[in-house]
Amino acid sequence: MYCVNVAINLPIKNLFRQYTYSVPDDMACLDVGWRCLVDFAGREVEGFVVARVPQPENLSKLKSVTRVIGSEPWFDAEMIATARWLSDYYMCSLAEAMRLFIPGKTSIRMTEKTVYAYGITDLGRELLQAGTGRAKLQLKALGILDNAGEPLTGAELLEQGISQAVMRGLAEKGAVQVSEKRVLRDSYFAHVAQDETLVLTEEQERAVADISRDMTEAKGSTYLLRGVTGSGKTEVYLRSAARALEMGRQVLVLVPEIALTAQLVERFKARFGNRIAVAHSKLSRNERGDVWFKMRSGLTRILIGVRSAVFAPFQNLGLVIIDEEHENSYKQEERPGYHARKVAEQRCRHAGATLVLGSATPSLESYYGVLQGKIKELTLTGRPLGQPLPKVEIVDMRQELANRNFGVLSDRIRKGLENTVAQGEQAIMLLNRRGYSTFVMCRDCGHTIICDHCDVAMVYHTAGQSLRCHYCGKTLRVPQECPSCHSRRIKFFGTGTQKAEEELGTIAGLRPLRMDQDSTQRKFAHEEIIRDFKAGNYNALVGTQMVAKGHDIPKVTFVGVLSADSSLHLPDFRATERTFDLLTQAAGRAGRGEKPGKVVFQTYDAESPVLRYAAEQDYVGFAKEELRTRKEYGYPPFCEMLKLIVLDEVAGNALNLGQRIVNFLHTKENAEQGIEVLGPFPALVGKVRDYYRFNILIKGKDLSGVKARLLNSEFKSLRNVYFDVDPSSVI
Ligand code: ADP
Ligand code: ZN
Ligand code: ZN
Repeated sequence: MYCVNVAINLPIKNLFRQYTYSVPDDMACLDVGWRCLVDFAGREVEGFVVARVPQPENLSKLKSVTRVIGSEPWFDAEMIATARWLSDYYMCSLAEAMRLFIPGKTSIRMTEKTVYAYGITDLGRELLQAGTGRAKLQLKALGILDNAGEPLTGAELLEQGISQAVMRGLAEKGAVQVSEKRVLRDSYFAHVAQDETLVLTEEQERAVADISRDMTEAKGSTYLLRGVTGSGKTEVYLRSAARALEMGRQVLVLVPEIALTAQLVERFKARFGNRIAVAHSKLSRNERGDVWFKMRSGLTRILIGVRSAVFAPFQNLGLVIIDEEHENSYKQEERPGYHARKVAEQRCRHAGATLVLGSATPSLESYYGVLQGKIKELTLTGRPLGQPLPKVEIVDMRQELANRNFGVLSDRIRKGLENTVAQGEQAIMLLNRRGYSTFVMCRDCGHTIICDHCDVAMVYHTAGQSLRCHYCGKTLRVPQECPSCHSRRIKFFGTGTQKAEEELGTIAGLRPLRMDQDSTQRKFAHEEIIRDFKAGNYNALVGTQMVAKGHDIPKVTFVGVLSADSSLHLPDFRATERTFDLLTQAAGRAGRGEKPGKVVFQTYDAESPVLRYAAEQDYVGFAKEELRTRKEYGYPPFCEMLKLIVLDEVAGNALNLGQRIVNFLHTKENAEQGIEVLGPFPALVGKVRDYYRFNILIKGKDLSGVKARLLNSEFKSLRNVYFDVDPSSVI
């Protein structure tokens, strides 16, 4: 008999330690990486075996494992190593890190399509050889199994005249072993569709060659594939993936959001047919379980998925591609707040797999990695057919006001749209605010309508003539009079996508279609909108940032950004980078077909260097300048950053707790190591869903010591303190 240490899979924050259980003799397969059921505080819960340990002296105190889950270990050594790294780096328990690797968080009541299969044991073979006269059917069954050379399901045995009862009898004797065998929903393999008809450009050729060589030599390098929008990055992914398959290795392709990258999925499907599996966030637990099984068993060779697919099991991972690697959605906002790029780096390191990060506007972290020589850069400098990048014009809205144009659209955009109609082409208009008006204010006393539960203005939506809170979803009828002074002079201010859509509708011949969070609630709504637009049923697409991403629509020749500086002045160190990314991506939607594209940025801040860099699509110029600023002010990637968020229904309590944490961190050692502790200060939106929020920011060259101290403190298990490692924003 032996014992195991088990990480308990419960979503409880303070379960940082593991528990020892003894292993009964009939479960002697149980070892590191297996899942099991154990009794924990009177409940039967799932546990992950993380170590085999010697028997303690006082065995009687130990409970024993109740049941083994599955017929093989779930976690291999690489997954366990990655989980251990996750729990240290992202300050979560080992169980919290490990449950990320399980489809659907818990597997206890997994009702996957599991059927039982019977395999012959050594004892069974002995019985078969001895050929004892009686129990003819049992002998026949053993003969069939011995011949088959693999476990057979009850159904397969029944076809050959063997009933369940016969098998049960054999199982009781120990002549056969029962295991789970999955029935896959589709295990059909198509041949690789060989549509590699394009002739690669020299730059593409070189990128594929470098990546392939790295895979052949199993070097596990990281590459940054930096190529302007439409430069043929996807083609490089496809060819590199094909090389990986030829080497018998598996490929993981991460995308920011499946709905917005339907085209990439289509192209992979066209080339690799059924050799790919897709894991998006709307899969049911069963479907996800199937996908995981196909990858683990090696039945499927390419997995395309969103952030969480970085935790899929693999048999022989050779290549990981992260498309649009700068996208925010790769960072999980809930606990544990991991970044898929960092997790992918770990997994690639353990598996000897090559990592390819693709973007037209790489994250400054990745670009800094290139400058430091840690990441190898591959560039695609032009579009394959030599199409020019769109010409971008910056329109100063202050000038429009001076010319007595008080509308949403500048003269330049209006003309551009009229021209689009005249030429029978299409346009995309970006406005990063949904709703109709962005706030409602009383003309007499200046009162704005704020959500009761959150510290933000409510937004007017035309649907139901309602005011909505974009943080908690609360809705109100528009009041007839001001709640503060009872004046009836209530006025709507600011422009959201609904109002923009209405304005566009006034241009003769323009048929606008809106895409934002409100119009894409239904499943597949994104895809339908893009399909409708692509089919030409509408000639203008207006919406929030989702209109700027990923699509390749050849007839789009005109792009307008209605408020190019809207996110620029947020008090956040990433605001500039986000603005640059969004503008560059938006501009990149224009002129992807035969005709060149035109782009207009409307702004009240026409001198902003960010807008200029974006207008010129000058990533390197932007990145160098922004990195200088980050260095000067001590922001990532020049330091590590940790944000602590303290929440409480009473503002004073949150502030006090925040202050206690800050005092705890203001130590001599921290000061000597140059670790800065800032705050607590109220979050930009100081209250959300009735909870006040205060932030603490910790910056330093190496925060591992600070993290370890916090994990040894009383604060680690407080429910209202959240650790956000490498936060995506500081506000
Ligand atoms: P990106 O992913 O960089 O935005 P894509 O891979 O989508 O760019 O390529 C843009 C367009 O150029 C696609 O329509 C693609 O089929 C085409 N393309 C890519 N590589 C080549 C090539 N070598 N020759 C001709 N066309 C190409
Ligand atoms: Zn008023
Ligand atoms: Zn609210």
